[in-house]
Amino acid sequence: MTDTLSFEETAAKYPEFPRLIMLKTDIHRRGVYYTPKAIEAVDVEKHQLGGTHIFGTRDGKLTKRPEAFVLRDGISVLSTPTPLENNPYVIDLIDDRLVLTDGENVLEEVFYWEKPDCYGKRTSSGASMQNIVGWLYLTPNRYCHFWTNDDGCRFCDIVNNLKQQKDEIEMQTRIKPKDVSETIKGALKEKGRFTAVCITSGSDFHGKEPFDKEVDYYIEILNSVSENFTTNKIPVQIACTAIHKEQLKRLYDNTNILSLTMNIEVLNEKIFKIVCPGKARWVGYKEWKRRLIDAVDIFDESRVNTGIVSGVEPALLFGFKSEDEALEAVIEEADKLASYGVSTVNMVWVPRPNTYLANQKNASLEYYVKLSYGLQEIRRKYNLKIDFDDYRRCGNHPDSDLARAF
Ligand code: SF4
Repeated sequence: MTDTLSFEETAAKYPEFPRLIMLKTDIHRRGVYYTPKAIEAVDVEKHQLGGTHIFGTRDGKLTKRPEAFVLRDGISVLSTPTPLENNPYVIDLIDDRLVLTDGENVLEEVFYWEKPDCYGKRTSSGASMQNIVGWLYLTPNRYCHFWTNDDGCRFCDIVNNLKQQKDEIEMQTRIKPKDVSETIKGALKEKGRFTAVCITSGSDFHGKEPFDKEVDYYIEILNSVSENFTTNKIPVQIACTAIHKEQLKRLYDNTNILSLTMNIEVLNEKIFKIVCPGKARWVGYKEWKRRLIDAVDIFDESRVNTGIVSGVEPALLFGFKSEDEALEAVIEEADKLASYGVSTVNMVWVPRPNTYLANQKNASLEYYVKLSYGLQEIRRKYNLKIDFDDYRRCGNHPDSDLARAF
């Protein structure tokens, strides 16, 4: 797919779409490059550096660079450092200000994320707290068992990234619940910094029934998080494999969890089977959707969603003939899920080097604008809230960023 419209042309064509959310979407789409001066401006005592994310960077490097930055409206942008030859946006230091540039144009001032106070501290077992928690984003199991049979999702680099992290930083594959409890305790000492905890991991199909072990481990982890709260329910979002109804109930009844995400990744059965072979083999497309709908019975409407890696669907030769055709199909499936109380959020697909789809190109900005607007419109139509996965909780979904504006 080739871009048809630039950022400015897209902004002019869709004036009702908030400009800074559109810019953030395009930054995710094209990536960023930090100039040497912008790297020099990082204060390691103050700023949060990347390298501990569950997925890798677009340039395949773990070198310390800012994890994210904030635009002038307070919106966070997670950054994926990208080689200059891929035409990313560039962060530079000009006249003592950190700015986002595109060619000769200076677009916006940016502000690097400040790191949480618990960074640099260790739990009683010696584990590094910053390797356990990102922006209260926990990834307790960094191995995905679908990779054992080469069934990992074709856009995903989780295991290759883990190997690099184990070589270059002291990253553990599987985190102990006690270390999680102590890290959350340490993080919460910083008053007002966090509003929710997000948890995600690789899939684990082991157990008496497939994914029993994944459910057991999540219950342990969630209970270790809960040790730091006194309320019946806590603002935790968990992104797990699509588990069946009894497992969903076990998860809900034995933890203080409030909301649930089970990422289907692609809203099209044919592409799902090719792009997500492990999910297709162990659960299946129709069953994945059925389990999402089952989850609404347990967690309630406005508490269940599914994520899609958007831009994969129009990019592949075996997919749709055009972006418009892909968009129409995705919106139709998302609408159907929403009619049962399941919300869909999109993550802009980043073609990473250590993946099967490394050499593909993601979709045009116009595609992402129309998709994000369409998904938020669907939520309005069915009166679904997305406050457990919005710009303040996650910051990785252009459509739920719109919830603050529409
Ligand atoms: S289920 Fe797919 S996207 Fe999730 S960690 Fe495994 S391979 Fe990656």
